[in-house]
Amino acid sequence: MSYRDLHELVMATNNAGKAREIAAVLEAFNIKVIPQSQFQVPEVEETGLTFVENALIKARHAAHYSKHPVIADDSGIAVDALDGRPGIYSARYAGVGASDAANNQKLLQELATVPEAERTARFICVMVLLRHPADPTPLICQGVWEGRILPAAQGENGFGYDPLFFVPNEHCTSAQLPPARKNELSHRGQALRALVAELRNYV
Ligand code: IMP
Repeated sequence: MSYRDLHELVMATNNAGKAREIAAVLEAFNIKVIPQSQFQVPEVEETGLTFVENALIKARHAAHYSKHPVIADDSGIAVDALDGRPGIYSARYAGVGASDAANNQKLLQELATVPEAERTARFICVMVLLRHPADPTPLICQGVWEGRILPAAQGENGFGYDPLFFVPNEHCTSAQLPPARKNELSHRGQALRALVAELRNYV
């Protein structure tokens, strides 16, 4: 199957926040998104050391179980004062299965003595598309979103670290942005639009 003919993709995530954002962007490009929960895809261990490896692991796993073309995202936040942590461990920063609140609490504790100017951070998203589990030419795109970590949470939208992620040009956190605006700016929105462009240009 050519990449150009793909109009329906299984989404390899159980994260409701990610799923909402991915579906909103792809539906605007007339690509229908099917949640992997429809195929009883079991959890897979993210054993990679990079976003790319983990995104491929999730995509390959979901493609195997669903027998459909799959899109998968591996993402996280890299904080300069923490030498890039939590990075690929963002979802499990406060422990495996940790809540967003527990991860945010841990981040605030780790940065407790770090002044505002040194709290720079960025969200990173690697998005991959596999046509089948053994696809030797996955499409791989990355997006990066720069910001800074606030000393206290602000805003109710989004998920994960959004209430702590201050976006300088917007003068608010990513949890205070309307969802459509977050998708225009975010690491995930950037990676998705790049992926759709590759998909449409693929020969
Ligand atoms: P993954 O499921 O292993 O890719 O983990 C991604 C984790 O990174 C999420 O659980 C969040 O903690 C964090 N993260 C990624 N993207 C975002 C975002 O757009 N907003 C807030 N947190 C995010």
